Amino acid sequence: MIEATTRWSITRRKIFTNCARRYAIKYVHNNNKTWINNKKKYSSPWDLMISTSRSVFFELLTDLHRGVSWSEKLIQSRIRFELTSQLISFGITYEKITNKKRNKLILYAFIRIKKILGNSIITKIVNGTIKEWSFHDRIKPVMFGHIEVYCSPDIVYRYKSKWHLVRLNFQSEKNQPYVDLELCSMLLWSRYNQYLPNIEQKFAIHGLFYNNGKWRNYSIMPSQKMLQESKQLLEKDAHNMNLLQNEFVKTMNPNKLPFAKSSNYCIRCPYKISCPKV
Ligand code: SF4
Repeated sequence: MIEATTRWSITRRKIFTNCARRYAIKYVHNNNKTWINNKKKYSSPWDLMISTSRSVFFELLTDLHRGVSWSEKLIQSRIRFELTSQLISFGITYEKITNKKRNKLILYAFIRIKKILGNSIITKIVNGTIKEWSFHDRIKPVMFGHIEVYCSPDIVYRYKSKWHLVRLNFQSEKNQPYVDLELCSMLLWSRYNQYLPNIEQKFAIHGLFYNNGKWRNYSIMPSQKMLQESKQLLEKDAHNMNLLQNEFVKTMNPNKLPFAKSSNYCIRCPYKISCPKV
């Protein structure tokens, strides 16, 4: 029996809209044991650098919330430790990656964190101008109809009379045609959060996106209309993901699915070794 797609997150959406093959390999298995066992656990050193940047930054926020600040030296040493552990856990041992390359990745992660600390929102949190704030992970979903939606903001803060919901993206795409609606999905989370007022007009929404060596701020004032459109986008995505899944499980052959239109998207794809497009 084919299980309907019930999960939605920005990451899933990005992969789905960029490459059907990659999406199917990553997310669709339909409880097929052979498929699950054969699927190799792989992540590129670059992707591990991105996830390291994110997790070290969240460790830093955890301490900051307790009133403990980090020195640059501590940031670097936490990155080195986390990245090395991640690389080893994916079989990328000292023999498989040169010291020079590893040090470069550590530097890239450090630059990301150093630069985000200079962002106006994060600076206000660090220097105490923003006093009421919290941070979240996207591990806990909220239910939207039958869909599990992973949409919590990374940071929430209150400034003057407004609640601000912030999403961080440590490696963002240059073009994001649906960025407003994608960011608005954070409102779904807030509606279910008993500690936040249930009035969309009282929110401001921010995306902090790292691209091309810079963090960009993208801020919007959400409306009921945007929230409605965001829900529609989510439902449409879930529907299209189900159509793709139905197609895929007929053969469990990902090579029969559409490939990425742009070869740029293939550069860091974990499934490119077996991909006919590359
Ligand atoms: S290599 Fe490119 S086309 Fe092939 S699965 Fe990855 S992203 Fe898709």
